[in-house]
Amino acid sequence: MERIEIKTKGATELVDITGEVKEIVKRKGVDSGICVLFTRHTTTGITINENESGLKSDILTFLNELIPEGGGYAHDRIDNNAHAHLRSVVLGSSVTIPIDSGDLALGTWQSILFIDCDGPRRREACVKVIGG
Ligand code: ZN
Repeated sequence: MERIEIKTKGATELVDITGEVKEIVKRKGVDSGICVLFTRHTTTGITINENESGLKSDILTFLNELIPEGGGYAHDRIDNNAHAHLRSVVLGSSVTIPIDSGDLALGTWQSILFIDCDGPRRREACVKVIGG
């Protein structure tokens, strides 16, 4: 399994890791298979969408409105970051992408976005490439 290191600067931040993942797939020399991306953190998420500055801002606004910080959550009595866990639940912890002709079979406007919901922190995305 490969790992991508991610250093976030903001409280909630979207990081495009498509380039790093493509590089790993190329290095593995897999022509046809699947690529699994997974986060082992409980306050991060991984999703696939368009890397456009307006949309990235919309996603942050959407998460803030859907799951506001300090919303009277039970977990906040422990470490005050229930909103980050709940955002992670909504975003999901993994994505699977087909590999075709040695490259990720992403659509034209699709990018792999790692979302830190409890930054700034040093994070890690796990990448497993399967195929031949
Ligand atoms: Zn917590």
